[in-house]
Amino acid sequence: MRSWFALAGVDVEAPAESSKLKITIHVGADTADFDRDVEIHPAHYRTGKLIVAPKFVEPGPEELKVITADAELKAKVFGTSASEPLWHGDFRAPVRAAPTDSFGTRRMFNGKLASIHKGMDLRAPKGTVVRASNSGLVVLARPLYYEGNCVVIDHGLGLYTLSMHFSRIDVHEGQRVVVGDRLGLSGATGRVTGPHLHWAVRWGSAYLDPGKLLRLKLNAVR
Ligand SMILES: [Zn+2]
Repeated sequence: MRSWFALAGVDVEAPAESSKLKITIHVGADTADFDRDVEIHPAHYRTGKLIVAPKFVEPGPEELKVITADAELKAKVFGTSASEPLWHGDFRAPVRAAPTDSFGTRRMFNGKLASIHKGMDLRAPKGTVVRASNSGLVVLARPLYYEGNCVVIDHGLGLYTLSMHFSRIDVHEGQRVVVGDRLGLSGATGRVTGPHLHWAVRWGSAYLDPGKLLRLKLNAVR
């Protein structure tokens, strides 16, 4: 018997309701469609308050230009993923540091700006080696306004991992990486309250819980 497997996820802001999972299978010239109802249950996220430099809450005109350019670059990067999976096997934690349950936290910056935390913060002191969590292609490796020194890996079919706030980047755009490859050193660049690694998982336009991806046993389904 032949079998296939696929990874799918639900965005952190998806409403808690019944949703339809649509699957199309292509085999040669044939296609088959089927769908299944998936119940999305409410998650219970914390709320928190943070104080950051004012320029990250009320950016001036020059800063807004940088933010707009960053947004255009990110739209391009996230709009062109490899057409086949570049990853295989388990995803590994990017640093040896304690994870926090910060994913999904509703946060208020400087008492003014409400935002949802779409990644996982890991308590990495400045200079901690950050590694590729799986194989893929480095599609962004440069400083951005909010993200600081940022590295994005395309794992194919719209699945990306993002690492932010590096003190140093050790890879370049266009570079192939495998699990465990050194991406750079953690730091405190961009919109932060202190040194840590912000690590996010994006699929299509959805941000997924990195903790859940790390717990999946994918070696068994190769
Ligand atoms: Zn974060």
